[in-house]
Amino acid sequence: MNETAPLIQLEGLSKVFHTDEMETHALSDVALRIDAGDFVAITGPSGCGKSTLLSILGLLDPASSGRYALHGKDVAQLDARGRARIRNGQIGFIFQAFNLIADLSVEENVALPLTYREGTSREDIRQRVREVLELVGMVHRQRHYPGQLSGGQQQRVAVARALVGNPAILLADEPTGNLDSRNGESVMQLLEQLHETGTTLCMVTHDAAFARRAQRIVHMLDGRIVDEDTFERLRHEKDIAVPMVASGVGA
Ligand code: ADP
Ligand code: MG
Repeated sequence: MNETAPLIQLEGLSKVFHTDEMETHALSDVALRIDAGDFVAITGPSGCGKSTLLSILGLLDPASSGRYALHGKDVAQLDARGRARIRNGQIGFIFQAFNLIADLSVEENVALPLTYREGTSREDIRQRVREVLELVGMVHRQRHYPGQLSGGQQQRVAVARALVGNPAILLADEPTGNLDSRNGESVMQLLEQLHETGTTLCMVTHDAAFARRAQRIVHMLDGRIVDEDTFERLRHEKDIAVPMVASGVGA
């Protein structure tokens, strides 16, 4: 790990999907730097490549070409196993659909990432789970099951699960997309609070109001990162509706 290098640095990154004789250029020549402590929002219309970019940042998927350095270490060439190893140690994910396991309790869901780590005692796990549940205000529901919680509460539990392994960065894909405005606001406040206490965050959202609450906004169009002026000009030319209502569309 190189402490002086940026946390994340992408250069010339591209992703092409091949399906039934179709080639989709989901990302083209993307450059992005994220430093420790940043709160970055990635925004743009449905289909512009936001989730693809987040999957690559989170080492769920490899890029087709380009450079990805994490803590100064080249991770673009890793195979699936190498990616999984780094992902488990460094990355916390939050999804639009919460992705909690229905027949595990809140505390079991949150403990899950730690049970894959060797050398963590049961007592350490129990304590760490309690710590993160306190952080998200969900200790009082630790014996409940996901189905017994509101959407906002489930997302808080998902945030705790993402935090439990003490990741270098939290990646959130439309974290408020399945929530009504009140619950969405409360999850957004939780993310802001995490940022204020030092957590590095990268959030995908097509809600412009939520994006503005990040410290930096990265605008995407057609698989590329564009500056704000270009974004505004092109979206008027193309008549792309941004912001769109945060629904399930394209997420
Ligand atoms: P966003 O999250 O901004 O809505 P995505 O990153 O999901 O956009 O998708 C970007 C483009 O890549 C879209 O054209 C989408 O259809 C395509 N795409 C995404 N994932 C796949 C996949 N697994 N296979 C083929 N095409 C894909
Ligand atoms: Mg998406």
